[in-house]
Amino acid sequence: MTNYPSIELYIDGRWKRADGQPVINPADETVLGTVPTATRDDLDDAIAAAERGFAVWRKTAPARRTQIILKAASLIRERVNDMAIAMTLEQGKPIDQARLEILRGCDIIEWDATEGLRMYGRVIPSEEGMRHTVLRQPIGPVAAFSPWNFPMSSPGRKVAGALSSGCSIILKASEETPAGAVQLVRAFHDAGLPPGVLNLVFGNPAEISNYLIPQSAIRLITFTGSIPVGKSLAEMAGRHMKPAIMELGGHAPVIVCDDVDPIAAATTSVTGKSRNAGQVCVAPTRFFVQESIYKRFADTFAEKAAQLKIGNGLDPSTQLGPLANSRRIDAMESFVADAKAKGAKVLAGGQRIGNRGYFFPLTVLADVPDDARAMRDEPFGPLALVNPVRDIDEAIEKANSLPYGLAAYAFTRSAQNADRLASEVEVGNLSINHFVASVAETPFGGVKDSGYGREGGTEGLQCYTVTKNVSHKMI
Ligand code: NAD
Repeated sequence: MTNYPSIELYIDGRWKRADGQPVINPADETVLGTVPTATRDDLDDAIAAAERGFAVWRKTAPARRTQIILKAASLIRERVNDMAIAMTLEQGKPIDQARLEILRGCDIIEWDATEGLRMYGRVIPSEEGMRHTVLRQPIGPVAAFSPWNFPMSSPGRKVAGALSSGCSIILKASEETPAGAVQLVRAFHDAGLPPGVLNLVFGNPAEISNYLIPQSAIRLITFTGSIPVGKSLAEMAGRHMKPAIMELGGHAPVIVCDDVDPIAAATTSVTGKSRNAGQVCVAPTRFFVQESIYKRFADTFAEKAAQLKIGNGLDPSTQLGPLANSRRIDAMESFVADAKAKGAKVLAGGQRIGNRGYFFPLTVLADVPDDARAMRDEPFGPLALVNPVRDIDEAIEKANSLPYGLAAYAFTRSAQNADRLASEVEVGNLSINHFVASVAETPFGGVKDSGYGREGGTEGLQCYTVTKNVSHKMI
C-alpha cells in the first residue's frame, strides 16, 4: 500500500522495525501494514533515552526549542496531503476531515511552541534582603497514551505540550491508527529534535502502561481514552504519586432554546454530530429541545441525517466514513436495539450498512427514555438522541444528570440563558451557538468522571511544569 507508511518504533532518535499486529482499513477490512510490539528491552531503552533527552532538552534555550518545534509543524503542513490519506486509510474519516485534523494539530503545536517562550515565573514582594522567586520548571519525562479517534492531533497535543514546556516524552500511540503518530514523530526527527526527547512505542497497551507508569524516571502521565481505563491508570499514577492529565469520555448535552431557528440549529447539529462519525469525546449526543420547536428540530435533523453521503473517506464527496473498528458497530447495534425496546422512535438510520467495512448511518432516535442505555453510556458513534424539554431548568437538570462533564452545547439568542448555562452546566467546555469545543489557545478538559488536567491554552502547558519557590536571603 504505497500511501501507507511503514510503522516503526522510534527510540533514542532511531527507527526500529519489529513484528506485531496488523493494521486494518475500516472501509474494506483489508490489511494496511503491521504495527510493531515493543519488548521490555525497547521500553527500558525508551526510558533511558527519555531521561537523557530530558537532560539535554531542559537546558536547550527556549527560543531554540521553539524553532525546532515550529520547524516540525511546518514539515507537517508540507506533508498534509500524504498524511491525510494515511489517516483516512487507517481511521476511516473523510479525507477533508483528516486534512483538517492535521492542520488543526499544527495550530496546536505552533501555539504551544510559542507559548513555551512565556512560561514566566513570579517575583513575590518581600522584605529588604530577601527575594522569593517562583519558577516554573519542566516536570520531567512524560508517559503519554493517545487513542485511535484522532491519530495525529491527539498525540500532537501531548507531544506539543511536553516539548514546549521542556519535557521529554514517551508516546504510546494507538495500535489501531499508528500512522498519524509515526508521521508526527517523523516530522520532529526531520526538524532536528535531539535524540531521546521524543520516543514512540506500540504494543500491548496494558502491559506498556503497567510498566511505564511506576518507573521513577516518569514524572507525569497523560491519557486520552475511556473512563474505565482512565480511572485505572489514574489509580496507578496515584499509587506512585505521579500527577496525571486525564482526557476521558463525554456524553455531551445540546440545549436548544425556543428563541432560535430550529431548522438552522438542526442543520448545524447534523454536521456537528457526523464529524468523525460521532467518535469524538466531545460529540454532541443528548439533544434537549424546547417543546414548541421540538418537532421541527427533530424532523429536520432526521431529514438532513438521511441525506449524508456515506462511503469510503478517500472519496472527496463522502460526508460520513466507516466507524473505526468493529467494536463500534457492535456498540451501535446494541444501543439502538435497547433504546427501541424501551420505546424510542427511530427517525433515521438504525442499521449497519453492508457487511464489508464498518459503515453505520447517522442514527436519530427520538423520545428516548431516560433508562435507555444510550442515554447513560457514551455511544461514541453516530447516534443522536433527541428529546423535548419544558424549559431551561429541565434542560440544565438533564444535562447535569450524568457523571460525565466534558463538553456541552447550547443554542440561544438570549444573553440571560447563556449566562445561566455558563454558570450552571457542569462541564469543562461549553460552546454556545456552535460546535467547536476547543481551539489551540483555549484550555480543554473535563470535570467529574470526564477527567482532570487540561490540554491546550496556558493551563495545558502548566500541567507539564512544576512550581518551585526559591527563597533567597542576601548575605
Ligand atoms: P478501550 O477502553 O478498550 O480503549 C480506549 C483507549 O485506551 C484505546 O486507545 C486503548 O488503546 C487504550 N487503552 C486500553 N487499555 C489501556 C491500558 N491498560 N493502558 C493504556 N492504554 C489503554 O475502548 P475502545 O473500544 O478502544 O474505545 C471505546 C471507548 O473508549 C469509547 O466508548 C470511548 O468512551 C473511549 N474513547 C475515548 C476517547 C477520547 O477521546 N476521550 C478516544 C477513544 C476512545
